[in-house]
Amino acid sequence: MSTAEEILKTLEKMYPDAAPALKFRTPYELLVAVILSAQCTDERVNKVTGVLFERYNTPESMLTLSQEELEKCIYSCGFYHNKAQHILSASRDILEKFGGEVPSTLEELRTLAGVGRKTANVVYAVAFHGDAIAVDTHVFRVANRLGLAKGNTPEKVEEGLCAVIPKELWSRAHHWLIFHGRRVCHSRRPDCEHCPLAPLCEYYVGNTRDE
Ligand code: SF4
Repeated sequence: MSTAEEILKTLEKMYPDAAPALKFRTPYELLVAVILSAQCTDERVNKVTGVLFERYNTPESMLTLSQEELEKCIYSCGFYHNKAQHILSASRDILEKFGGEVPSTLEELRTLAGVGRKTANVVYAVAFHGDAIAVDTHVFRVANRLGLAKGNTPEKVEEGLCAVIPKELWSRAHHWLIFHGRRVCHSRRPDCEHCPLAPLCEYYVGNTRDE
């Protein structure tokens, strides 16, 4: 078995129930939640969207809000000015170019104003069960440390992960890596002592080789 296969097998055992923590009922709600989740916890986003989506959970209803009004609703998620702008531009695009429905292909999702590659990948994988790996800060860090996919940009890491992970595992592997980054492989102090992946991890093996 290759190292990548062993890593994936171990991650699957560690996080059998890994799933998105963002709450949503429709692809549009997921899109808005993912935009809000940049640099913010999923718990905070769920609190904000719990209230926001009671009245504004379609592109039409969202566009009845002004930029300032939306900023007030999402203030506590941080970066509220940019996030409000992105939500409104994406909503306008969905309404004008896609008849009010969030498009279901990766190519179309990536054309939406205010929607970055990571957001498009998450919506495609989670809402439409498509095969995609979204590289967020956790995936980027954990993939590099493990040596599963090395790169200095999210695009390079995404490319590397897609090359070593079988396509049918892409969206689940994305969640495994996020869970591992949140629970064990923390950005400042990875808990290598208690990490079952340590013998397979480039970072760990490299740092303990001369001890
Ligand atoms: S051994 Fe340490 S650096 Fe490697 S994946 Fe585990 S926690 Fe992260």
